Amino acid sequence: MGSALEGEAAEEGAGSDEARLTPTHLDKTRAEEVIMATPERLKNYINGTWCDATAESWVDVQDPATAEILALAPLSQAVDVANAAQAAAAAFTNWRQVPATQRIQYLFRLKAGLEAHFEELARSITMENGKVLEEARGELRRAIENVEVACGIPVMMLGEFAEDIASGIDEYMIRQPVGVVASICPFNFPGMIPFWFIPYALACGNTVIVKPSERTPLTMSRIFHLLEELGFPPGVVNMVIGGADTVNAILDHPEIRGVTFVGSTAVARHVYSRAAANGKRVQAQGGAKNPVIILPDADPDMSTRIVIDSVFGNAGQRCLAAANVVLVGGAEHTFRPALAEAAERRVVGSGLDPGVEMGPVITLQSKSRIQGLVQTALDEGARILVDGRDPLITGHESGFFIRPTILDSVLPNSTIACTEVFGPVMSLIELESVDNAIDLVNSGLYGNMACIFTSSGAAARKFRYGAQAGNIGINIGVAAPMAFFPFSGWKESFFGTLHGQGKHAVEFFTQTKVVVERWPKEWSRQF
Ligand code: NAD
Repeated sequence: MGSALEGEAAEEGAGSDEARLTPTHLDKTRAEEVIMATPERLKNYINGTWCDATAESWVDVQDPATAEILALAPLSQAVDVANAAQAAAAAFTNWRQVPATQRIQYLFRLKAGLEAHFEELARSITMENGKVLEEARGELRRAIENVEVACGIPVMMLGEFAEDIASGIDEYMIRQPVGVVASICPFNFPGMIPFWFIPYALACGNTVIVKPSERTPLTMSRIFHLLEELGFPPGVVNMVIGGADTVNAILDHPEIRGVTFVGSTAVARHVYSRAAANGKRVQAQGGAKNPVIILPDADPDMSTRIVIDSVFGNAGQRCLAAANVVLVGGAEHTFRPALAEAAERRVVGSGLDPGVEMGPVITLQSKSRIQGLVQTALDEGARILVDGRDPLITGHESGFFIRPTILDSVLPNSTIACTEVFGPVMSLIELESVDNAIDLVNSGLYGNMACIFTSSGAAARKFRYGAQAGNIGINIGVAAPMAFFPFSGWKESFFGTLHGQGKHAVEFFTQTKVVVERWPKEWSRQF
């Protein structure tokens, strides 16, 4: 990791008005101290080597709390993807022959490395993404849980055996790795989402290419330094940083046999169809617009606290963020004022500052888009109950902040009720019954998550049974599956069959081979 270089950089940058934080210096003691005159150009990691991308354009990686440029991300081209695919294909032949019990030794070491660098990585997530440190720690914990689960591959990858399917004939199924696989990732969980896939892919014997979001590539770059230290054979793990063209090169490359994608629905649909047209196995998780139903018998304090955390956690930039809060059968009398008061109280600021509960959104463009959607809601008849559209955050005047915002009297089929905002905006919708609420859930385009808050088991069961969403919360605001369950989006939130994490990931990253064999009894007489 070049500690000598870090020292030099620190001295060079000291006192410079043009000071910039550099991405390779993200440990707690140094990250905010080490400064340089120009931001670092990030490299790809291909065939066990850090190499320059052939990019013609570069994207600013900004700290959303300050607008400072932390680094420049290359928009890698098809040749970079081809180099990575070639290296991964060459490495596959030997990697798949390494026994599963040996492959997981790398994962045990990876877990140890992630634990050892936990705080440094959490700060990296906060710096490039903006979420508060506690949320970054939670994200990283989820990443590590996936590594832990993937360490069970020797059992999870077991095949099946049936003796005597006919007289003297046996049949069995074995799981073999797919080959070179690629994971295309979004900006909002830069430290976690790649881990829904990478540990399982590697443990199953595949070789991988990771394409982090060009807006948040720093944490994955740091994690690749850790992977390098673990001594993976060259070509087994590769990282190519880039944008749409890089993704399309992945989708078109013949050596890449499987693709996972997480991001917005429009891109998910594109990835799914283009990868499938090229004969690849593919899963694509898309966007969301998650409804939360509150019944009048819901526990007021607990439900308010949890719903507020769900809507405003990560500044609303979670695919499992609640967005439409549906107040049923008079619940509005208690919950409208309670939610408004809790939203007003939320402490907004830099995610690195202690006591802060909500950070900025990812870019200035994102902030403008969110402000525009709120304006559209008002134009369509909603009322603003809590207005956080353009706050002044002292000391962070250049950051991309929006405070918690609550829209009231939102109509179920209005633009704001149907569009993914991906920001800290809550829409209050009033309905009469649980049946109306289930109808609302099911009329939505998306199906990532739906939640209900109630003390009625019968209402909860009816909701769980009938709601068309892949992740259901009952008195839970962010129904995020543990690593040993699939991350189950439905409808426009998911294209494919097998999801990320756990057994689904093992199935996705393996292909089944069935063997039918006959050993006639007569042949054994000679022994
Ligand atoms: P995005 O779709 O803009 O980008 C995701 C990835 O696709 C990035 O790596 C990006 O470089 C690439 N990309 C962007 N435009 C492309 C194009 N035109 N062609 C090919 N590739 C392209 O998503 P984002 O803004 O990074 O992330 C936020 C979105 O991700 C939200 O919609 C959120 O709901 C969704 N998300 C979904 C899940 C889930 O599990 N369903 C989880 C996290 C985030």
